[in-house]
Amino acid sequence: MRIPLTEPLLDGRELEYVTECIKTNWVSSLGSFVTRFENEFAAFCQCAYGVAVSNGTVALHLALAVLDIGLGDEVIVPSFTFVATANAVRYTGATPVFVDSEPRTWNLDPDAVEAAITPRTRAIIPVHVYGHPADMGRIMDIARRHKLWVVEDAAEAHGAEYRGQRVGSLGHIGCFSFYGNKIITTGEGGMLVTNNAALARRAQFLKDHAMDPERRYWHPEIGFNYRLTNVQAALGVAQLERIDHLIELRRSHARQYQSELADVPGLTLQPEEPWARSVYWMYSILIQDDYGYTRDEVIAGLKRKGVDTRPFFHPSHVMPPYRTGQHLPVAEELSRKGLNLPSGPTLTEEQIHFVCQLLKDKAF
Ligand SMILES: *Cc1c(COP(=O)(O)O)cnc(C)c1O
Repeated sequence: MRIPLTEPLLDGRELEYVTECIKTNWVSSLGSFVTRFENEFAAFCQCAYGVAVSNGTVALHLALAVLDIGLGDEVIVPSFTFVATANAVRYTGATPVFVDSEPRTWNLDPDAVEAAITPRTRAIIPVHVYGHPADMGRIMDIARRHKLWVVEDAAEAHGAEYRGQRVGSLGHIGCFSFYGNKIITTGEGGMLVTNNAALARRAQFLKDHAMDPERRYWHPEIGFNYRLTNVQAALGVAQLERIDHLIELRRSHARQYQSELADVPGLTLQPEEPWARSVYWMYSILIQDDYGYTRDEVIAGLKRKGVDTRPFFHPSHVMPPYRTGQHLPVAEELSRKGLNLPSGPTLTEEQIHFVCQLLKDKAF
C-alpha cells in the first residue's frame, strides 16, 4: 500500500469550468470566474471583500504593502510556521520579530506577543498552523490596546472557526493560499479577504501594477503583478462548491486518528480547543521521548511501509536568513517531535487504520 501525504480531490465541476475558460478564450486574469471566486470565497470567510492573487505568499506581502508596512517597522510572527510568513515581512523591508508558540494550540502565544511589542511594532501575523485557529480574541485585544494591525495567515485553515467566527474575518486582513495541498486548491493561488472597503480597493490597485483606474497606463506608485488567472479561479469556484464536504472529510479523518491513537503511549495528538473548530489541514502528532523511536525513525519506518509523512516546520528563528540566537522552547520542541500524517481528502478509512496500526505496533 502506498499512502500519499495529501492529494487534491477535483471531482466536482472543475473540468467543466476550466473547459469553459478555454472554449471562450478567457484564460488570463480578466474573466468572470475571478470576480465570482473573490465574492464567493469572501462570503465563505464572512467577509465583504476578496482580492484574488497568484499565491499565498504574495497575499501576505500585498497585505503588508496595503498597510504601508516597510523599512524600520517590526511585525510580530510566530517562529513556528511555514517560512513564507517571515519572508513576506522581509520583502517589505520590515523586520519579523519571532515569538514562541503555546503548547495548547501550537500557535503564537499571546503573552509572548505582548512582551515582544516595541515602539516600532506595526502589525501581528497570527498563523492558524495546521488548520487550528490561533487565540484570536486575546490577539485582537492586544492589537486594539497597542493600535496594531492584524494580518491573519490563514493559508492552512480555510473554514476554521474561532468561537463560531471564520478565520480570515477576525483580523484586519486575512490571507489564504490555494496551493495544491491546501484545503481547496487552484494549483497555485491566493486571496486576501477583509471587511474594510478601503483596504480591499488598495489591494486591487497594488496587485495590478498600481494603475490609475481613471487613466490607463498611468501609475502613481510602484505596484506588483500579483494577479490570478481566470483558469485558476475557475478551479477555485468549483472547489468552493465542495468546500464543506472537503473540510468534513479532513475532520472525519482526524476523528478516526484520534480514536485509534488515543491510548498509544508516547504519542501526543493534535489539540483542538473547546472554542475552536479546526479544519485539520495536516493531521499531526508529536513523538515523545518515551515512545521508543525518535520522530525521524518513525518517518523512515513509515516510509519503508509506503506511508508518506512530513516532519514539522523548522522554527524560522534557527534558519540562516533569520538566525536570531533566541531560544523559543515550544517552537523548538514542536519542530523536533512533530510529524504530519497522511491527511488529504482522498484518504480511506482502511488507509488511516493501516497507518494507526503501524504506529501502535511500532512495526517499522
Ligand atoms: C502554504 C503557506 C503559505 C504560502 O502559500 P503559497 O501559496 O505556497 O505561496 C503561507 N503561509 C503558510 C502558513 C502556509 O502554509
